[in-house]
Amino acid sequence: MSTYTAPYADANFVIKELVKFDQYCSEAGLEEVNSELASVIIEEAGKLASDVLAPLNSTGDQNGARLEDNKVIETEGFADAYQQYVENGWATLTGPEEFGGQALPNVLGTAVNELWHSANMGFALCPMLSQGAVEALIAHGSDELKAQYLPQLISGEWTGTMNLTEPNAGSDLAAVASKAIPDGDVYKITGQKIFITWGDHQMTSNVVHLVLARLPDAPAGVKGISLFIVPKFKLDANGEPGELNDVACVSLEHKLGIHGSPTCVMSFGDNGGAEGYLVGEANKGLMYMFTMMNHARQSVGLQGLSISERAYQQSVEYAKERIQGTRKDGSKMAIIEHPDVRRMLLAQKSGIEAMRALAYVAASDVDKAHSKDAEVAKHYQPRVDLLTPIVKGWMTEFAQELTSLNIQVHGGMGCIEETGAAQHYRDARILPIYEGTTGIQALDFIGRKMLMDQGAALESLQSEMMITVNALATVDSPVFAKLHRELRTAVERSMQVRSWLLDKSASNRDLASSVCVDFLMMHGFLCGGWLLAKSALSAQELMGSGEYADDFLRTKLITAEFFADNYLPRANRHADVVMSGLSGACEIDTEQF
Ligand SMILES: Cc1cc2nc3c(=O)[nH]c(=O)nc-3n(C[C@H](O)[C@H](O)[C@H](O)COP(=O)(O)OP(=O)(O)OC[C@H]3O[C@@H](n4cnc5c(N)ncnc54)[C@H](O)[C@@H]3O)c2cc1C
Repeated sequence: MSTYTAPYADANFVIKELVKFDQYCSEAGLEEVNSELASVIIEEAGKLASDVLAPLNSTGDQNGARLEDNKVIETEGFADAYQQYVENGWATLTGPEEFGGQALPNVLGTAVNELWHSANMGFALCPMLSQGAVEALIAHGSDELKAQYLPQLISGEWTGTMNLTEPNAGSDLAAVASKAIPDGDVYKITGQKIFITWGDHQMTSNVVHLVLARLPDAPAGVKGISLFIVPKFKLDANGEPGELNDVACVSLEHKLGIHGSPTCVMSFGDNGGAEGYLVGEANKGLMYMFTMMNHARQSVGLQGLSISERAYQQSVEYAKERIQGTRKDGSKMAIIEHPDVRRMLLAQKSGIEAMRALAYVAASDVDKAHSKDAEVAKHYQPRVDLLTPIVKGWMTEFAQELTSLNIQVHGGMGCIEETGAAQHYRDARILPIYEGTTGIQALDFIGRKMLMDQGAALESLQSEMMITVNALATVDSPVFAKLHRELRTAVERSMQVRSWLLDKSASNRDLASSVCVDFLMMHGFLCGGWLLAKSALSAQELMGSGEYADDFLRTKLITAEFFADNYLPRANRHADVVMSGLSGACEIDTEQF
């Protein structure tokens, strides 16, 4: 089974040179936070990830959670690992100080979360869901609910879940049918939720469910959904978990991947109604969920990076060990010496570096969107809104290709479960589905994030990309000439497609929804190419400075060039498809499929 080492060098490079973390911290008044501290934190997290979580990854795959008397029993070893995670304060990293958090920037939390997901995605989903619940409560909970639940959710003493999906309400949450009946100061919740990640376990003394349900007089559709807290154990007078609430896991899904993460069918109110507490105002539940989706969606995009990195490390390890082929002198060789195997490794490495750059930059933009400086926040919020569906949609789809390359590097052994390569491939498959499918991300990107503001946020991003294009032109080298040419072509195509869509969509209702996925993918490859070109500029500037190993910096130029040659042209191909209008997809008679 594969081991895992945190990608310290690249994580530190992206934080320092692309995110410009030191500049951000000083502008945000975070006096004691800087890239040196970030590096120490990432190194410490790397130890827990490598030594404790990574060895449990295949254990979780082979011995997933089980259900006994409506209690989910998690994989053996997970409870100990979770205890270490909590005792070392990892759960508190980005939480607000007033509730016991360390209030560190979101981008640092993202860099650390990358490691948890690489090491053991099934496990890491549990704290990820808690982070989502914390965010929802901070943004919309009453002071009383915050005081009751936030300290324990932030410390990790309790975990959180998201209960949205029902048998008839998946992508279409307007169809949510769970009921919330007022009962004095509280609500009685009834209904069934499906696919609930870490809906139950025995690792903590309570599980706090965030549940979407309808009040009796609620309007139909999205405007009639409210958000409730439903704890597994109701709190007693001292705020401690007391009586068991009327909510239980009634079955566990047997699924393709992430076996270590229990996927629960949750039944609310089999004995009269689970006690729930309204979060914020009635009928605004879906809006509240949307305000926290930037974080959740970026987290799932990040999982695409994490699983690709884990698979890549396994590819390198195997390619160095597997002897196959003969050198000219007659001696046997490891497959890493074959140029095509090196191509596959570079395809993974270059894609991963592009994803890491995008994930961290987008996470840092979230920090800036929360800036106390209103002008800064105003500039960055539309950028976050724009980048989030790209992070989620593109990175999770790209992860399918990169984890598949790991199988290819392994040859036949890649298909044999014992090697573990198949686990990464299976684990990755859910990513473009949960937290909104790729189709839903793409509709959001083209509709709400592009057409609705008449392309303003995209235009601002394109202008920033053009600054990089111009900087590339100033470096006198064949590699930079190529980066300049490829990036300029792709940015200009993006500008052209933007104008074309704004023009044509007004008269063609189906156009945007037919071409949205190509439009999204196009901008994923474009963002990746842009940020790797920026990395190449920094690497060139830093060469010989002693700040980084020159070999590391030279490799940065190679990964940027590989991306420009192999991946960036895909942005142009997707642009061609967008401008073809994909009219056939909607014209074909449904019976002809
Ligand atoms: C392992 C796992 C864990 C999960 N964890 C959670 C969790 O913790 N909490 C939770 O609430 N849910 C969870 N989910 C549910 C998940 O979010 C949904 O499966 C997902 O949102 C898709 O919904 P669906 O499965 O009903 O698919 P559907 O909505 O039926 O979609 C099927 C297909 O139709 C397409 N489609 C649907 N509507 C549209 C549209 N309007 N336009 C274009 N295309 C469309 C989709 O893109 C998809 O390709 C989890 C699911 C799994 C498998």
